[in-house]
Amino acid sequence: MSTTWEKPQSGALFVISGASGSGKTTLLKRVFQRVPGLRFSVSATTRAMRAGEAEGVDYLYVDVPTFQKLRDHGDLLEHAEVYGRYYGTPREPVEEALRQGLSVVLDIDVQGARQVQRSHPAAVTVFILPPSVETIRQRLDARGTDSAEVIARRVREAEEQLGACGEYDYLVMNDDLEMATRVLESIVLAELSRTSRRVRWVKLFS
Ligand code: 5GP
Repeated sequence: MSTTWEKPQSGALFVISGASGSGKTTLLKRVFQRVPGLRFSVSATTRAMRAGEAEGVDYLYVDVPTFQKLRDHGDLLEHAEVYGRYYGTPREPVEEALRQGLSVVLDIDVQGARQVQRSHPAAVTVFILPPSVETIRQRLDARGTDSAEVIARRVREAEEQLGACGEYDYLVMNDDLEMATRVLESIVLAELSRTSRRVRWVKLFS
């Protein structure tokens, strides 16, 4: 991507959902490398850290009482219980970034996405689809981080999440990583090119 890409005057809030094993994390990392000026919202979670993850980068790892305190104080933009663990989006960093005109990406589940659609109707929602449910099972197996029982539960919950894909603005089929990256990048760039976000150019030329 050219470094001459100019940040829009107002940022967008992107909500990305997709079942575990949909390849969402890999896809998001690639889009972050290609589009400058996107902020990833680091969620709070009560689940344990996985190998390869880092505190404050992938998640803020908190215990249940700390999570409940954040939730009860209204410090979370949205929250949900996923796979028996709590997850939530800290409100302040997202709202501060949006106030500064930056764009923020939330990687959250369907329950959380519904809450954000209500509180931020202008949010752009994207669902990452796997080619099939069987692919999800294979990808979770290959990751090697979860037990067979956890994988079976995640596949069941993935099917439930997939059932909500019709509620989203955009669908990205992740059967080919390069094509899926191009599609997601295109969605982000198109949304950031809306005339309503490009007040400077409108003033410049009219
Ligand atoms: P994982 O434990 O595999 O990192 O994530 C499990 C699921 O939780 C994913 O579908 C992910 O999108 C979702 N998730 C992660 N952070 C949040 C959050 O802050 N809020 C909600 N609602 N879901 C989240």
